[in-house]
Order: sequence, then structure tokens, then C-alpha cells
Amino acid sequence: MYSYRHGFHAGNHADVLKHSVLIAILRHLLQKEGALTVVDTHAGAGLYRLDGDLSEKGGEAVDGVLKLFAKFSPLGTHGKALAPALLDYLELVQSFNNGAKFKVYPGSPFVAQSLLRQEARDKLKLFEMHPTDSQALAGNIAQLGAGRQVAVARQDGFEGLKALLPPPNRRALVLIDPSYEIKNDYAKVSACVQDSLLRFPTGVYAIWYPVIPRPEAHELPRRLKSLALKAAKPWLHATLNIGHVEGPVSVTLPGERKAGHGLSASGMFIINPPHTLKPALALALPQLLQVLGRGAGKGYTLDAG
Ligand code: SAM
Repeated sequence: MYSYRHGFHAGNHADVLKHSVLIAILRHLLQKEGALTVVDTHAGAGLYRLDGDLSEKGGEAVDGVLKLFAKFSPLGTHGKALAPALLDYLELVQSFNNGAKFKVYPGSPFVAQSLLRQEARDKLKLFEMHPTDSQALAGNIAQLGAGRQVAVARQDGFEGLKALLPPPNRRALVLIDPSYEIKNDYAKVSACVQDSLLRFPTGVYAIWYPVIPRPEAHELPRRLKSLALKAAKPWLHATLNIGHVEGPVSVTLPGERKAGHGLSASGMFIINPPHTLKPALALALPQLLQVLGRGAGKGYTLDAG
């Protein structure tokens, strides 16, 4: 069950999509004064070394954040050509790195925490079940010294979420980002969203999923859409497919794997999205495709209702 380690995938195209969307949602929600609760049901380790053991084996950031950064660096000069949501994303990732090189990649807990406001009493609730990653997450968060703003639990995020909804201040963003290593995760996501919409219908729910040839993966966005419609809530669905490269794997340098395999597409489904999200993604997705697109099948979709 615990074979998935996000460190192998940190900063890949799926993270670029997911974290750009996360930032865009948070930017909007944090314009309002009231305290915001952010729940990350599947938090991962929080911080990743792009030159570390895990990423050397996967090196997926090469086809993701590193490719985007290489194209638009230095951001002060070339960032103006970027869609605002992507510039915001790259600037945030860069803020975790001192020099021109990206060595550290912030996962969703650190992306969110870096935007939350101490003075407004925003809260971040993190769940992570993996024995190693939950320990790493707790250690990384402890170093922040964020005190009671951030809580880490080594607990099932699907279950833990129930006790947090509705939040006391009635403002929350819930990121649901499982590894889908067990196919039951797809059904659990649907059940979790259904239950959450009953507990807290006005929450913002952001669900990541892999676009892969598996009936459950195909079905998930349809299920989420029908849950949103049933609850009479607006939704937004974005996918990014960077395309498939055929041919054998060739490894040139550590971390520089030019491979035909691996995940090439993923989606984000958002219920109760901010009205600013669709126009932001309408600018960002074509640009992501242009820079990250690598082969057959590449494309993006953006639908809302
Ligand atoms: N959200 C992270 C980010 O964007 O940086 C990445 C999370 S990763 C895709 C999924 C994580 O969920 C893995 O670290 C895995 O160990 C953890 N996990 C798996 N099942 C879980 C569960 N039921 N509750 C909490 N965490 C779980």
C-alpha cells in the first residue's frame, strides 16, 4: 500500500497544474478578511529535493517545473511573457530556492502555508499516512515555527476531514490529492466529496486525479460533476496532457530521463471555484501545453458549469 512516494514525482507536469490551481484559488480566497481553513487530505512530505535520491530516480521535474523555469528565467525579464497564474507559481517555487537553480520543490502543504496569514488566523490541516513521509512532513513543518497555524496528523485524510467540516469560520478550501495506488481511492474520493458537500456545501473542493486508461479514472470527473450538479454547486474541470513520447528510455544525466513512459496527463476538478479561476486557467493552460507539450496526444481541456 505504501509504495507511492511523491518525491519521485515532485515538480512534474501534474504538480505544475495542481499547484498553479491551488495558488490561484488561494489568492482569491485570501482577499477576504475572514479566517480560512485549508485542509490537505493527502499532504505528502511537504518539501522535496530536486537533486535528491528520490528525484534522481524519477527526475520528473525535468518535464515539469524545471522546463517551465528554464524557458522563462530570469523571471524578472522573461516572466512578463507568462500567464499571471504561472508567474505566480514560478515565483512561489523560486522563493524556496536561493539561487538561479531550483533545488527544492514545495509540495502542497508548503505552497499553501506560504500564502496563509498569521494575523487572520488562517489554519492549515494536513493528513499524511505514509510512515516515512508523515515523519518528514512533521519535521519540515516543525522547522517553520508556524505554531498552531499548522496541524499535522498521521491519519487517513478521508476520515480526518469529516471532523473538520464545517470549519468554525465557514470558509475552507479542501485539497484532495491521493496517490490512487489502490483503485479503491477513486470510490473513496467520490464518497468523501459527497459526504463533504452535505457537511459543508459552500466549501471549495479541489480534487486532483490522473488521466489514465482505467475505467475508474475515466469515471471520476463524471461522478464529481454529477455530485456538483446534485448539490447545485458550480464546478470547473481542467486537464493537461503533455503527450506521450514513444521509444526506449534513455538516461543522459542523473535526473535527466527522456522517457516514453510515465504519467502524461492529469486533471483538476474544482467544486465552488472562485470566478477568477476559469479566466486564469484559460491563459495558463495553452501556455503550459506550448512549453511542456512533448508528444502524441497532447492537449488541454477547460470546462465549467
Ligand atoms: N498533496 C501533495 C502535494 O501536492 O505536494 C502530494 C500528495 S501524494 C500525490 C499522495 C500522498 O497521500 C502520499 O504521500 C501518500 O503516502 C498519502 N496517502 C495515501 N493514502 C492516504 C490516506 N488515506 N490518508 C492520508 N494520506 C494518504
